[in-house]
Formats: sequence, structure tokens, C-alpha cells
Amino acid sequence: MKLEMHTHTAEGSPCARILAREVVKAYSQTDYDGIVITNHFDNDLLKDFGSTDRERMERYLLGYDTAYEAGRECGLTVILGIEIRLEPYAEDFLIYGADREFLFAHPNLCFFTQQELYELCHENGALLYQAHPFRPPCSPQNPAYLDGVEFNQRPNGNNHNDLLEKWICDHPDLKRVSGSDFHVMDNLGFGGIILEQQVKDSGELADYLKHHKPHLIIEGKESS
Ligand SMILES: [Zn+2]
Ligand SMILES: [Zn+2]
Repeated sequence: MKLEMHTHTAEGSPCARILAREVVKAYSQTDYDGIVITNHFDNDLLKDFGSTDRERMERYLLGYDTAYEAGRECGLTVILGIEIRLEPYAEDFLIYGADREFLFAHPNLCFFTQQELYELCHENGALLYQAHPFRPPCSPQNPAYLDGVEFNQRPNGNNHNDLLEKWICDHPDLKRVSGSDFHVMDNLGFGGIILEQQVKDSGELADYLKHHKPHLIIEGKESS
């Protein structure tokens, strides 16, 4: 199964240009079998998403929900993920394995510490990866509270994956993931992973990542 691990939609991430239905249509015309929607979970965005926690979470999920429906219609698997920024820092983290109930139960995740977020993810069967750890102004965060790191494949993304490759040598227990960081059509299909079985939701994806080492798609090519 070929799975895009880092996708934004215009409904959930104002920096993204493409609406969920168009994102799903575009990926359904490639050889990807599925996409993980990882819209930005930032307090700066969420505070304008509604006046109650429930409203904010429903608004946050709009891109995923729309993509999920579109995926059902055309046969593309659509999985919920989260790209979260913890206040007051600049780093982004990817959560794989969270479901809708996780978000409604924890609408204030942005105010957690990295350690608190990591522990909460594990209590809920989810995994925490740092997104593009060497993209300025980001720097790699405490590996004790990470499951892995992302080799971000966004073209011209200033990702410095060469530095990440050196850094991870000192932290061989960290897992690796790849994603395109899709915001516009020019970002389509440069990253992701190859799984040896099908997964259909965030729980199955997290279980797979816990027990397997997926092949990474690097610059559109499969590597191990
Ligand atoms: Zn963005
Ligand atoms: Zn992103």
C-alpha cells in the first residue's frame, strides 16, 4: 500500500490552497492507495475556528471529514492525522493513531509539553514524530519523547534532510517516515511510505508503524 503521510487541505490549513475534494481527486489519479490528512493543529488557527471546544474541533476536522467522504466515493483510503505545534515554539509534530474522539477529549493539546503529548499519544495507541526537524526555524527536539522523525519531501522545502540523516545516527531507535507536506498541486506525490499490507484507519496505521519498518518514498522514489 502506497500512503501519503503528510497532506493539508484548504479547509483546515489556510496555508494550503487545495480543497479536500480536489486533493482526493488528484491523489486518486496517482498510484497512491491512500493519504493521511495532517492539517495544522495550531492555537493561532484554532482560536478562530469557533467559540467552544466542540465547534473548534468540528471545524478542524472539516478537511478530513470532507476528504474521507470523497475518498469513499472514489476508493482512496483517507486517514486522520494531526500536525501539531506546541505553544510557544516553532516546531511541528505529526501524530499518527489519533481518532476523532481523541481530539474532542483533548482540544487543548497545543498547551501540552512535548513529554505530556508523547505520554498521551502512547496512552491512546498513537505515535509522535517530529516533522521536518531541520527546516528553519525548527530544531530537533528531545528524542526521549519522540517515536520518530519525518524526512519531509516538499520540493524546495528547505528541509536539510542531510542534517537529519546525520542527527538520527545518534538516535538509532527513532523511526522514520516520509511525507510530501502537500499544500499545493506542485507538492503532489514526492513522499510517503510503502506498507506491506492495507490499513484503513489511524489505529491500524499506528499499529503497523509500531511493528514494521516501512519503505520510505524519497523524492518520489522508493528506498529502504
Ligand atoms: Zn502549512
Ligand atoms: Zn505540514
